[in-house]
Amino acid sequence: MLNELATGGTPPGELVFFGGPMDSGKSTLALQMDYTQSAHDRKGRLFTSQDRSGRPHITSRIGLEKDAIEVDADFDFWTYVSAQRLAGKRVDFLICDEAQFYSVEQVDQLARVVDEMGIDVFCFGIMCDFRTQMFPGSKRLVELADRIENLPVRPLCWCGRIGTHNARVINGVMVIEGDQVLVGDTSNSAPDEVHYEVLCRIHHRARQPKGHSGATLSAHTLFEEE
Ligand SMILES: [Zn+2]
Repeated sequence: MLNELATGGTPPGELVFFGGPMDSGKSTLALQMDYTQSAHDRKGRLFTSQDRSGRPHITSRIGLEKDAIEVDADFDFWTYVSAQRLAGKRVDFLICDEAQFYSVEQVDQLARVVDEMGIDVFCFGIMCDFRTQMFPGSKRLVELADRIENLPVRPLCWCGRIGTHNARVINGVMVIEGDQVLVGDTSNSAPDEVHYEVLCRIHHRARQPKGHSGATLSAHTLFEEE
């Protein structure tokens, strides 16, 4: 493969990362990208990890869904694409949803698929967790991607500002400690369980999710402390 590259035999692919907070239309854009890229007989594969549906599907909040291949801890992108090609199947592009859950090694495999096979790889993921720390998969994508794009839909905090930070809320109380991955919903339909909200940085720092109660620092106070 490398010899092929040196002689210009493989056209370069592109590794693109679309990152943002939750509720920014990530899976919807992933499915739109699959539709657009499938034009002119281009062949793609869809991947996801721990989708909200609990099945290997890419599901978007506006009702679109499509089968996808589950990326579990043992999955190897390089081995998978190599086997597909060896079996005579065309692979022109990969759509990779929930890429924040991929391991560093799996993102490295994606970069190799781009560079040595000339395949375009479009990754979609949440940038940071509820503690404002980057997910390992997203961090590796920022380090390796040819291009990083902000997701086009900007969710709003309850105060009306642009929502930029994910908050984990348990029984109405925002928490800032715990496991990085804990399945919950963003619909707020089950208030006694874990759910997630997108807040502006001010209300994330003040630990004030929607409908918060108790005497906590106001946004105004936080500004004055700066
Ligand atoms: Zn806010």
